[in-house]
Amino acid sequence: MARRMVVVGNWKMNGWVETAQELTHSIITGLKEHHHRSDPCEVVLCPPATCLYPVSRCLEGSMVRLGGQNLSEFDHGPHTGEICGTMLRNVGCWYVIVGHSERRSGCGEDNERVARKMAAAFRDGLQPIVCVGETLDERDQGRALEVVREQMEGLFPLVPHSDQRQSLVIAYEPVWAIGTGRNASLEQIQEMHGLIRHVLCTRLGEDGERIRILYGGSVKPANAKAIFALEDVDGGLIGGASLNSSDFLAIIAAVPDRS
Ligand code: PEP
Repeated sequence: MARRMVVVGNWKMNGWVETAQELTHSIITGLKEHHHRSDPCEVVLCPPATCLYPVSRCLEGSMVRLGGQNLSEFDHGPHTGEICGTMLRNVGCWYVIVGHSERRSGCGEDNERVARKMAAAFRDGLQPIVCVGETLDERDQGRALEVVREQMEGLFPLVPHSDQRQSLVIAYEPVWAIGTGRNASLEQIQEMHGLIRHVLCTRLGEDGERIRILYGGSVKPANAKAIFALEDVDGGLIGGASLNSSDFLAIIAAVPDRS
């Protein structure tokens, strides 16, 4: 089954309104210049919350989508500093990253909360990009597959029963490969993506075949082509390299045409 490839840029806590707009303009211009290369894949930008609206204005008329980096599990009310899904929709978001490892480890997001946030995203009409991945200790202990399986299983009680669940995106990001310059090997990536696909299909049947599984963790122009060529890799979640328009465009250009 052909799944549309997607490349997502996670800008994390970097940039101001002006720099975010400049980066967005360079990406849109680059995509227009290499128009044929942008066709096979969807592109999503996830700027910091303060830049969502200005970036959304820059994206008007382009095919590039906007995403949040996080959302509250609640709808509204006394949750100082939080942003809910309808607020993200209100500034033009289509996607939201959920359960990034920096939030799991730094903000106490456990599997249950990640599932509730995923459910909130679905409720508000956003496509959740749910991150899963093991730490180096867990891999060294031979527990990588078990940990990721458990993170996946935690989602299913709150995955909707409707067709909407096909819009779920999973991002496999080994924690030890994020921002470290250290890559998972192609074998490690395919093994984990194969497991995630198996779990999705076992729990969701045919819908599991349609769900996209991204790889994230030090993806660069030099390694993107080999990673994107793997059978169960449907795109990438890109951190550091998404802050440089030429690197990000080169990563997009590495996406194979699977249509
Ligand atoms: C990320 O933060 O999701 C990520 C994959 O970062 P990097 O590409 O910098 O490793």
